[in-house]
Amino acid sequence: MGNEPDPHAPRLTPEGFLELDGYPYRFDPSVCAACEGACCRGESGYVWVRYGEIEAIARHLEMGVEDFATIYLRKVGHRYSLIEKKLGEGDYACVFFDVAQRRCSIYPVRPRQCRTFPFWESFQHDEDEVRKECPGIV
Ligand code: SF4
Repeated sequence: MGNEPDPHAPRLTPEGFLELDGYPYRFDPSVCAACEGACCRGESGYVWVRYGEIEAIARHLEMGVEDFATIYLRKVGHRYSLIEKKLGEGDYACVFFDVAQRRCSIYPVRPRQCRTFPFWESFQHDEDEVRKECPGIV
C-alpha cells in the first residue's frame, strides 16, 4: 500500500524506453507520435471494459452509464467490449480512436487493456506477434 513501487508497472529506462520484468522487449513511447494508431485499429477485435472502467468513461463523457452502454458497448458472453467502427475492408478502429488526430479521444480514462499495452501476457512469450502489432517495440 502507500507509495511503494508497483512491481507490475513498467519502468522508464535512461533511454526513455519502458520495460517490465519478464518481458523480452522494451517499448519506445516516442514512436506513438508518428504511428497511425496500430494498437487502436486494424483487424476486428475487442477492447474489454470492466464495470468501474465503464463508469469512469461514462463520467468523462458526462453520460449516464445506461446511455453509454447502449451507444458504445457490445456484450460478448459475460463481458463487455467497446464497439468498433469500420474504416475500410479489414480495417477497423475502436470507437474512441480519433482517426484524424491519430489518438485516443478518452486517453485519461482508457481501459486497463489499453494502458497495459504492449505488456500483455499474451505477448510475453510471443515477441514476433507484438512486433507485428506495434512499431514502438525495441
Ligand atoms: S480506448 Fe483509446 S487507447 Fe483504447 S483502443 Fe480505444 S482509442 Fe485506443
